[in-house]
Amino acid sequence: MKATLDALGAEIENALDGCRSDEDLERVRIAYLGRKGRLTEVMRGVGALAPEERPAVGELANALKRRVDECITALRERWKAERRQHELERERLDVTLPGRVWPYGHVHPLTAALDEAVAIFVSLGFSVYEGPHIEDEYHNFEALNIPSDHPARDMHDTFFVDHTHILRTHTSPVQIRVMENQEPPIAAIAPGAVFRHDDDVTHSPMFHQVEGFLVDRAVTFGDLKGVLSLFVQRMFGDDTRLRFRPSFFPFTEPSAEIDISCVICGGARAVNGGTCRVCKATGWLEILGAGMIHPAVFRAVGYDPEVVTGFAFGVGIERVAMLKYGITDIRLLFQNDLRFLRQF
Ligand SMILES: [Zn+2]
Repeated sequence: MKATLDALGAEIENALDGCRSDEDLERVRIAYLGRKGRLTEVMRGVGALAPEERPAVGELANALKRRVDECITALRERWKAERRQHELERERLDVTLPGRVWPYGHVHPLTAALDEAVAIFVSLGFSVYEGPHIEDEYHNFEALNIPSDHPARDMHDTFFVDHTHILRTHTSPVQIRVMENQEPPIAAIAPGAVFRHDDDVTHSPMFHQVEGFLVDRAVTFGDLKGVLSLFVQRMFGDDTRLRFRPSFFPFTEPSAEIDISCVICGGARAVNGGTCRVCKATGWLEILGAGMIHPAVFRAVGYDPEVVTGFAFGVGIERVAMLKYGITDIRLLFQNDLRFLRQF
């Protein structure tokens, strides 16, 4: 009987050695320790032995059963621990790895220039107004002292929506709309898109202006010069100089076109031993139109030109962006070519 138990013990040890999973262990347990298991049957047979043999054999059988139980439990726990360890290693975080960098966009150069211009005027106390893109002829032309037979209308290359409505050709109609609705003093800017039938290296059928105007008692041309000097110096640098050239606009009198010293050659007309191509060797760049608001415009909005005065100006934002960022073709601003945009 003892020999049978020894042989069974060796067999069980072999079977356990061959186990690779909890399922294998369960099969071995049932095969030897189950209700009809081999060891269970041997233990049942102990009762049939001679009384003097029973205690020794019974003890051996029990000891074997305990060993097998312990062995199965130990294997289960070891494997469980190994699985857990494996999981931990698989899920381990390396906190020294650099973070994942998501590509992110940035503001379009045109928007950047527009935002900067608006921020400069707001810091000087100007309020921001917007108006409709589809405008009536009255606000775009008539109220700005451009009657229907005025030659200036031809210069505007207007897009017509219907007989009386157009895509606004400048942001100046916002000036009229603001003045129609409030009394001076007013310091306002009107940034936004404008539309003209024009398309080449320096012209786009849709472009952006910042219109600005200030109306109060005793506003002078000197105030205009002060505001615009601050604007260009903040936009292009403190060394930037201004030059006013007499000009003509129907809605201002007197009118001026305003040049700044060339942002590339600084007014020296030459760079790196060659002539400056940006200012075409003139040393100056045209950037703004401005003037004192025409009495006819004040009358159109119900102001008394004997009492109030004011100045108005308009700056093309594409021009500002091109000069500020060294862009030579206006169309690049609207093609949304990422190879171009990523340079900024
Ligand atoms: Zn230059």
